Amino acid sequence: MIAITTSVFELFKIGPGPSSSHTIGPMKAGFNFNKSTANLKLETAPDSIEVRLYGSLSATGEGHGTDRAVVAGLLGYRPDTVECEFLDSLADRSSHQFESGDISLPLSVNNVVFAEVENNFPYSNTMLIRLKKNDQILFEQEYYSIGGGFIKWKGQIPKVPNVPAHPYSNTQELKNILTTTKKFLHRLVLENETAITGASEDEINIKLDAILDTMKKAVKNGIKTDGLLPGPIGLHRKARSIYLKTDENFNAADKFLIRLNAYAFAASEENAAGHIVVTAPTSGSAGVIPAVIYTLEEDLGISRKMVRQGMLAAAAIGFIAKHNASIAGAEVGCQGEVGVASAMAAALITYANGFRFWQTENAAESALEHHLGMTCDPVGGYVQIPCIERNAMGAVRAYNSYIIATVENRKFHKVTFDEVVEAMAQTGKDMSNKYKETSKAGLAVSVPDC
Ligand code: SF4
Repeated sequence: MIAITTSVFELFKIGPGPSSSHTIGPMKAGFNFNKSTANLKLETAPDSIEVRLYGSLSATGEGHGTDRAVVAGLLGYRPDTVECEFLDSLADRSSHQFESGDISLPLSVNNVVFAEVENNFPYSNTMLIRLKKNDQILFEQEYYSIGGGFIKWKGQIPKVPNVPAHPYSNTQELKNILTTTKKFLHRLVLENETAITGASEDEINIKLDAILDTMKKAVKNGIKTDGLLPGPIGLHRKARSIYLKTDENFNAADKFLIRLNAYAFAASEENAAGHIVVTAPTSGSAGVIPAVIYTLEEDLGISRKMVRQGMLAAAAIGFIAKHNASIAGAEVGCQGEVGVASAMAAALITYANGFRFWQTENAAESALEHHLGMTCDPVGGYVQIPCIERNAMGAVRAYNSYIIATVENRKFHKVTFDEVVEAMAQTGKDMSNKYKETSKAGLAVSVPDC
């Protein structure tokens, strides 16, 4: 058993949209390169810097703003503090200066090469960042964007992670610990977070509030904004017009669903606009959990304390999916992004409503089960179609999964969360690469004029 050692705040990260593996990961790689060259001693002074993008970073990187993200990282910007306006300004190809130690080189998005989509690197989404003199490579780092904004690099010496207080690698082991220790799930996740990161419970709650407030801000901004989203599709934002329908003469059940949908559209449209969102677990799926958070707090009056606890339950579900399968569209398709987001959201709603672990697990299981096999085929390489509407579907399915899990006869629930995660991993392995964020099949091909 390799225990899960991911922090809650590695899963929930604040950063610019529209795709964590295409923006947050590459920006972190650029930032890492900047820091790792600070003490570099080269015999020959470099005269240029080159970034080569592979896999879906190449296929859809232009639409996702990967070139701007990696350049911003190389210029020393971090995803959690960069201004969207600065990222947008890089699109005009203006030249900036890469400064690291003794090295000072001109840098713009012109230094980024969209290289081969098919490749034999250990991870499809690979970036090579090079210092060059004429055509000679003086120094090179090979980075991998492995989904959800997480990166690795060749030759990386893995940090020995701190040992969690309650080590588990899957749902069954988690259940065993909960039974033995008689702890609540949120308490177990909190104690693990403290053991892994050293943060106190107060510090964790402050960070959780920052995550929750950023999610709600994305919803608020989205429901008050109209107009076209960036890119050649010409897709009009819908969140505001959907939200305004709640003033009309619909029944209460319809109004509830209209609002839940509007909130998911709102946060997803903010993501598509490249604005600040929270990976949950990725940027492409960053509308599902904010929609249910907003619904729970603003429409249903659930307390912040219970919502925080729900977030910790959601994190446990996300950890298990990431650890035993993947949360990257480029690895397993959209089942790993919106599917996992929906499972996390279902767990969140259930736990924040005061239900126990078995209902929480069953809600998460149902939500993921009904996303199995879902491909990733963003039209034109933009996180817009099907992504935005899909987030709304994920939020509604999460709510429905909560309803089923809390009213069904427990004895009749046959499938475990571990089993559905295993099915997702296998389905992802069998899925053609055409359906893994390369925009080479599915809607990306069948939808015309994009
Ligand atoms: S289809 Fe799903 S996995 Fe692919 S970019 Fe859109 S949200 Fe992400």
